Amino acid sequence: MLKNDTDVIVAIATAPGRGGVGVVRLSGMVDLNAFFVGLLARPALSPRCATFCSFLDDQGEVIDQGIALYFSNPHSFTGENVLELQGHGGMVVLDRLIARCVELGARLARPGEFSERAFLNDKMDLAQAEAIADLIDASSIQGARSAVRSMQGEFSVLICALVEKLIELRIHVEAAIDFPEEEIDFLVDERLLKNLQALVSDLRNVLSRAQQGSLLRDGMTVVLVGKPNVGKSSLLNALAGNEAAIVNPTAGTTRDVLRERILLDAMPLNVVDTAGLRETEDEVELEGVRRAWLEIEKADLVMLVADATETDEPDLRAIWPEYFERFPHVDQSVMVVLNKIDRSGHSPGLVEGRDRTFAISAKEKIGVAGLTQYLQRSVGFNGQCEGLFLARRRHLDALQKALELVLEGNRQLEIAGAGELLAEDLRQAQQQLAGITGQFTSDDLLGRIFSSFCIGK
Ligand code: GDP
Repeated sequence: MLKNDTDVIVAIATAPGRGGVGVVRLSGMVDLNAFFVGLLARPALSPRCATFCSFLDDQGEVIDQGIALYFSNPHSFTGENVLELQGHGGMVVLDRLIARCVELGARLARPGEFSERAFLNDKMDLAQAEAIADLIDASSIQGARSAVRSMQGEFSVLICALVEKLIELRIHVEAAIDFPEEEIDFLVDERLLKNLQALVSDLRNVLSRAQQGSLLRDGMTVVLVGKPNVGKSSLLNALAGNEAAIVNPTAGTTRDVLRERILLDAMPLNVVDTAGLRETEDEVELEGVRRAWLEIEKADLVMLVADATETDEPDLRAIWPEYFERFPHVDQSVMVVLNKIDRSGHSPGLVEGRDRTFAISAKEKIGVAGLTQYLQRSVGFNGQCEGLFLARRRHLDALQKALELVLEGNRQLEIAGAGELLAEDLRQAQQQLAGITGQFTSDDLLGRIFSSFCIGK
């Protein structure tokens, strides 16, 4: 959207379906008199006052009755003139209201367009706008709390503080470059080195809080694989605490890929239960096997489930050679879950002397709690939810790149006394951080971010 887009946009702001109340929201930089007159039969509305009105069609027939709320620019969510109509939450009535607004000159809003306008009118920065979408989508109380923190600007404040520190450093370094006769003195100044180190430590700190926060948002994806009947579906059920997958003693029943999203102390775990990866001629099962490999490729962690009464093989590679033939270099993300220990006599927990092997009984729920903790630890989730921000992948990438650039600049300074290289690294690091709050972001990226929001937000 261009900053001078004068269209009045309209959308239903409440969730689709039946509801006690349904809200239609209009926003535009132009004055909204046409809507006051045509829709409410009033010449004007007092800002920030709830006014009980009839909402009228072009013939003056009442579409609905409810509350009209008017916010004049810039004191509104979007920073524009905003009219909110709170009527009854039925789809027909809300659709008629929308149609009437369009008749009067509004156009339908794109997903996220209200938030996009709020961002373009400086009502919030990009990280705050993203936090609104994340709050709406939050799947746990802790996730919602972290999203609120970001929405209120706590994350942005930290990012801005990092940017400030970078600017100070850049001023120092660039001054040194501008006065070459004193450059060496400038660059070996202890203050510069100390500030650089302080910046590195601050960046690491924010990155680690953001990483924890991103686990609250996205969690990890775990794929369950293993021969038929080893207990994959039972493990999925034990982790989920409900009967998501069919547990059936006949081999080869889980033909499709099943997905379950469960919470492990606030961290979402996306569990994918795949068809048993076995040699088969059956077309349907072959398709299941093909899909299983696709899931394995994308997963954060692959859990190879084995039957404790059948296998005593200590070497991961020997248990599952097919995996290591396909992915010879990435064994870090594989673990073995030794199931059915109620029948084998193994103790629950990590098995001594075996490669990343955790013993449980899915059916008897022995060792399952320990396994969930092990899973959390394996992605670095520390269970601490205080002070986190619901960060997104793009924030983590930017923070990570900024950290690498500052470290590289520091290295250049130490090994070569190269002020120009340090200055350039610091400049790029600043751009990376500024991208988080949207001070420096391409239109293309903005479009992608806002289009993933819901309509009416
Ligand atoms: P899948 O084919 O790998 O998904 O295996 P299922 O989860 O369908 O389980 C196959 C059979 O093993 C079922 O009869 C389960 O009840 C049984 N089973 C699963 N987990 C355990 C366990 O921990 N102990 C015992 N004794 N049986 C189990």
